[in-house]
Amino acid sequence: MRVTVCGAGAIGAATAWFLTERGADVTLVERAGVAAAASGKSGGFLALDWCDGQPVEALARRSFALHEHLAGTLDADWGYRRMTTYAGTEAKRGPAGPVDWVGPVAITQTLGGPRTTAQVHPARFTQALVDAALARGAALRVGTVEGLEQAADGAVTGVRVDGAMQAADAVVVAMGPWSILAARWLPLPAVYGIKGHSLVYQTGDRLPAEALFLECRDDAGSATPEVFPRNDGTTYVCALSSQSPLPLDPAAVGPDAGAFSRLEAMCGRLSPVLAASPIVARGACYRPVTADGWPVMGAVPGVPGAYVATGHGVWGILNAPASGEAMAELIATGATGKVDLAAFDPARLPALDPAHLAVR
Ligand SMILES: Cc1cc2nc3c(=O)[nH]c(=O)nc-3n(C[C@H](O)[C@H](O)[C@H](O)COP(=O)(O)OP(=O)(O)OC[C@H]3O[C@@H](n4cnc5c(N)ncnc54)[C@H](O)[C@@H]3O)c2cc1C
Repeated sequence: MRVTVCGAGAIGAATAWFLTERGADVTLVERAGVAAAASGKSGGFLALDWCDGQPVEALARRSFALHEHLAGTLDADWGYRRMTTYAGTEAKRGPAGPVDWVGPVAITQTLGGPRTTAQVHPARFTQALVDAALARGAALRVGTVEGLEQAADGAVTGVRVDGAMQAADAVVVAMGPWSILAARWLPLPAVYGIKGHSLVYQTGDRLPAEALFLECRDDAGSATPEVFPRNDGTTYVCALSSQSPLPLDPAAVGPDAGAFSRLEAMCGRLSPVLAASPIVARGACYRPVTADGWPVMGAVPGVPGAYVATGHGVWGILNAPASGEAMAELIATGATGKVDLAAFDPARLPALDPAHLAVR
């Protein structure tokens, strides 16, 4: 079976990997580069039970286990490790509590320990899944998916990539927030992009495996920076979401005015280690969200051979493995066993009227 996966973020990469495990002939088509968008610029924080009680509970629990399994079986290192995770708030004085590398911060709660929280370097994780799929015979094609090719009965026969036909028996739209563009050719619900900003500091080997979810205030208002020291000697911090319009080209995503300097000032106040460390990367990216907040994953109604997997919001790196596993299972066998995708059926949301898309 020939399957074309559109988009080489974490969701497309995981889907491609699990499809190759099932013997599918996979082509991954990516416009900007593997993990060029949110999957390369996110926190990579993972939690076993933070989605409990939500429709994504089973997906998150299965994914948390699969992250450990993949890290132990694939021949690559993407910085997977367990962490202790704390909540804290900016204070007049500090540090107060068990974390000694912050400044005026009071740790208010332990949110998780090594049994329940972990991290990956998301770009390396995504690249490793792509590499593993390529080693199993998949192909990676750099190009822009522009449309769908269909037979007279409506069944998928491929996609158009940079004006040329890419033949396929099944097509998976996994283009993150850009999946909304596929609503021009498929009956898909709207997918939106919520922007976030991040800084990566070269902190050396000074920081332990302690993740922080902080609250602070500055002249512009309140903010909730998330701080994740990584085992490669860097520390990732993200905050400052916005609804700035999504550019058509993933490579054209840039920061909101003043966002990086505001985040840098915040980090300098919250930790003397960050204040003294050089910044090695600044990132802006969009997480894909749907109208009801849950992923859309499954067969596209009325178009045999068309599938979608997106809308993972703040948990796309966590939930990539079980999403990819379930999508591969659905495409190969017509059903899923490990995680029920019924709650994510694209048909639960109204299809976007292409007339409402600014670009057609
Ligand atoms: C600041 C921030 C921090 C985050 N932190 C975490 C975290 O700690 N833990 C967690 O689990 N999640 C986190 N997330 C969420 C997570 O990053 C996303 O949910 C996830 O990366 C989405 O993956 P994706 O593969 O669906 O989309 P993307 O990563 O957006 O990938 C889509 C791909 O499709 C490609 N594409 C677009 N259009 C086309 C086209 N026409 N043709 C071909 N290819 C195309 C793009 O170039 C891109 O590479 C964070 C998100 C943000 C913004």
